[in-house]
Amino acid sequence: MTQFTEEELALGRQVIETCRELERRGLNQGTAGNISIRLAERKEGFLITPTALPYDLMQPEDIAHLKLDGARAGRREPSSEWRIHLDVMRRRPEVGAIIHTHSGHATALACLRRPIPSFHYMVALFGGEDIRCSEYATYGTQELSDRVLEALEGRSAALMGSHGLIVLAPTLQRAMALTVEAETLAMMYLRAISAGEPALLPADEMARVKEKLAAYVAQSAPRPPAAP
Ligand code: 13P
Ligand code: ZN
Repeated sequence: MTQFTEEELALGRQVIETCRELERRGLNQGTAGNISIRLAERKEGFLITPTALPYDLMQPEDIAHLKLDGARAGRREPSSEWRIHLDVMRRRPEVGAIIHTHSGHATALACLRRPIPSFHYMVALFGGEDIRCSEYATYGTQELSDRVLEALEGRSAALMGSHGLIVLAPTLQRAMALTVEAETLAMMYLRAISAGEPALLPADEMARVKEKLAAYVAQSAPRPPAAP
């Protein structure tokens, strides 16, 4: 029987709370999607939701622990998408949390294999001119991980062909906010293309906005209380 540390149990509770928040917001349901969060000691790897367990039944002790060498611990098997989470955690040191959803609008675009282009300036929040859509591969396979990582190159989100959405961020709280943002952009883009042909912003404008948004996001970071 695995003994979890206090840190792991506390992070596990945060992960479960985020899973339930995704469900409350209609961004995931049942057992769709998965979440991981990196442990403070980077060599220790990360925590990941278990496979096939409905969010309302999930307990902190059900969260699985994966080390970066692939060693696993916990009373349940990790998410079937553990390869994607492991590959991202290994190759993208800036990432502290990953959220994968089957949220409606992003998934509708993923089924159409339509990347989200520069139809709105907020697309630049995800690192470039577009949010790409990966090719399809069977869920839970190394092939899917390879395709998704390709689509995530230089980006913090990607659509997964005929599957869903994945979002990377430094923290779980930020990953949640970006998931809501990506799903909202997908909804706006679907509406825009069903009404006509949206105008696309040029590459130099998207590069400018990307810089401006980095400063904008930095302003939302917590500040120490003002000195008395
Ligand atoms: P898991 O329950 O194994 O995490 O699978 C859900 C999913 O979304 C697979 O892509
Ligand atoms: Zn999935």
